[in-house]
Amino acid sequence: MSFIELKNVCKEYANTNKKAVTDFNLKIDEKEFIAFVGPSGCGKSTTLRMIAGFEEITSGELYIDGKKMNEVAPRDRGISMVFQNYALYPHMTVEKNISYGLKNMKVPSKEIKKKVDWAIDILGLSEYRYRKPKNLSGGQRQRVALGRAIVKDQKVFLMDEPLSNLDAKLRVSMRNEISKLHRNLGSTTIYVTHDQVEAMTMADRIVIMKDGVVQQIGKPMDLYEHPVNKFVAGFIGSPQMNFYNVKVDGNKITFADGNSISVNEEISDKLKNRKEVILGIRGEDIKFDPQNIDVFKENRQKAVIENTEIMGNENNLYFEFGGTSSVARVSKYEVAGVGEEVEFVFVPHRIHFFDIATEEAISI
Ligand code: ADP
Repeated sequence: MSFIELKNVCKEYANTNKKAVTDFNLKIDEKEFIAFVGPSGCGKSTTLRMIAGFEEITSGELYIDGKKMNEVAPRDRGISMVFQNYALYPHMTVEKNISYGLKNMKVPSKEIKKKVDWAIDILGLSEYRYRKPKNLSGGQRQRVALGRAIVKDQKVFLMDEPLSNLDAKLRVSMRNEISKLHRNLGSTTIYVTHDQVEAMTMADRIVIMKDGVVQQIGKPMDLYEHPVNKFVAGFIGSPQMNFYNVKVDGNKITFADGNSISVNEEISDKLKNRKEVILGIRGEDIKFDPQNIDVFKENRQKAVIENTEIMGNENNLYFEFGGTSSVARVSKYEVAGVGEEVEFVFVPHRIHFFDIATEEAISI
């Protein structure tokens, strides 16, 4: 039996004539770490808030640990939640902020001390125990907010963009801390983020949404390697997958600028009866090195580098190809200067194809 289950959950806010969430179906196992990801306004927070009980479920059913939760008050659902605005009590110390909720729950004071000591220790907050929030950094405040949530000892942990107020470096280290915390506590976690990197790096499974509708549910690499549509392909991965509208004629694929490549029989067979498709290729599957160019030489292309991004560990090369601004991701040893003409190939078996009208992936 799954630990949390959403069955055809819908949300329509009053005074709107559009569903914010449509037929959300998901089964979550105990101890799983699930990320809801998608662009702003796609319904992630609404879904999380329905699970928490802060938002009424318009239709459909929610089960936690086998019990129907639709009508159950938030405090009786066995969840604790961390928000983007962690709203610590400014006049209380770290210790008091963490213990406050337990006092409200009438937990015996000995027990409170034990739990607070544990949380302060696990979150590395010992030296800040008696400080107030205004004397803490953003990351430390976020850890206090996490502490407040973990001492409640709930089985379900809900997090709504908990890292979005932090700077980039801190986000990376907090990502790590939350993952470790999840492994230590083993609580079933749902984590809302608009940042695909957070979803990819932290989650056991990702639920990707668009306009209130779940697009795909899967392990991070499943979504990366086998996106079900162009939206998922474009949302997951950075830099974004390159997309080209191309013409198909037998085994010949022609780009908008007249350049063409040939595909093998297996692929041309899957594309038969189609005149036009969307071709997608990730930046790292465009190759500039002599070996790859030699292996796939019949599909060799040329372009002029228009811009480069030197990242240190790797480089992004921008160039115009196929009538579209394209980007390739190459190793730090492959530096090409702006204005330089380069040769490259698309690795044929790494190419994705999508239906021109529905944008759904064509399985190859
Ligand atoms: P996300 O968390 O993915 O950014 P939300 O769940 O906050 O998206 O919002 C989903 C949709 O519901 C959006 O179109 C948003 O404008 C709408 N929405 C959110 N809250 C309310 C509300 N209280 N009343 C009316 N519409 C709302």
